[in-house]
Amino acid sequence: MTFSLYVHIPWCRAKCPYCDFNSHAAAAWPEDAYVGALIAEMGARAANPAWAGATIATVFFGGGTPSLFDPRSIGRILAAAARQFGLDADAEITLEANPGTVDLPKLAGFRAAGVNRVSFGAQSFDPATLRFLGRIHGPEETRAAVHAAHRAGFDRLNLDLIFAVPGQSVADVMRDLDAVCALEPDHVSAYNLTFEEGTAFFTEMRRGRIRPLPSDDQAAMYAAVREELPQRGYAMYEISNYANPGHESRHNLTYWRAESYLGIGAGAHSFARDLASPGGRRWWNERMPAKYLAAVQTNGLAEVGAETIDARVAAGEFVFLNLRLRAGFSIDQFKHRFNRPIEEFFGAGLDRLIGDGLLSRDDDRLRLTDRGLELADSVFAEFV
Ligand code: SF4
Repeated sequence: MTFSLYVHIPWCRAKCPYCDFNSHAAAAWPEDAYVGALIAEMGARAANPAWAGATIATVFFGGGTPSLFDPRSIGRILAAAARQFGLDADAEITLEANPGTVDLPKLAGFRAAGVNRVSFGAQSFDPATLRFLGRIHGPEETRAAVHAAHRAGFDRLNLDLIFAVPGQSVADVMRDLDAVCALEPDHVSAYNLTFEEGTAFFTEMRRGRIRPLPSDDQAAMYAAVREELPQRGYAMYEISNYANPGHESRHNLTYWRAESYLGIGAGAHSFARDLASPGGRRWWNERMPAKYLAAVQTNGLAEVGAETIDARVAAGEFVFLNLRLRAGFSIDQFKHRFNRPIEEFFGAGLDRLIGDGLLSRDDDRLRLTDRGLELADSVFAEFV
């Protein structure tokens, strides 16, 4: 059995006004102590029967800004993961990087530490859009970072893009796509800007100082991205993700396929399938870095909440997560995992969604239609 490991690094140089991740602006951070806590937490989890005999298939350093850390710190974490659990020889090991925080020596250091995939938050190549988004880098820094990553030996490279930024047009989004493709990443994630409660942009929106783009404009941009990237060789394999064939993010596929993952670090979430029943268990850590550190130093763990997932909830999560994938999922595989046919859980809802043209069922596969893609949230609500 294998599982995925998520490692959360919670600090950033500055807080972007749209960001609702567990990230904290800082000029300095207790890197050694935090790495020690991550390793201690992993050690405590390795003793848990949920992971007994399992090895790590993918690792993802997310944040926050993991590229703020020294490559030696990343190397220490990976060495501990290999020691405590076992790391598959072909493990996919991704590190999120802010283009404003890396240069060639640093990227070469990450590569030497064992990282084999890098994910840059490019977001846009328009200087004014980047300023509006509060990014600490300009387009030239992103280009330089990507070139440096290629020179450092990273042939697996994702670029994150944000579209539907107030003031943007479809033509602006197309220019960003041109700029992305010119850098030849093997993977592109393109998300529309959302205004999440608790962010600076949400407050500005409430005060009437920022207005989100009309939903028709947002839909037109999403349609343009969905049309354009496949023509450039990036197949859409998830609602917001595109890749050269065979270069999909294996780590993120773990989430979308509702498989087990262990999250370590401040605010990290974990999910362990119960292999003896169709459900599982989810738990999450203390969010604030200082409290996380104190908890691990005292107890070895920083878990502050947990829930048992019963078969009905697990079945709903399996469906709406897998429906995010363009290929959908196998109905037979569902039956195998949940010991009952899908109709016994969602019969009436499925019939209605298929009748409304939002889901398609052909032979063994259930997937979103093109119309379902645009109304995905309302489809998913049926299974929550
Ligand atoms: S760099 Fe990323 S994680 Fe940090 S505040 Fe900006 S969007 Fe959030």
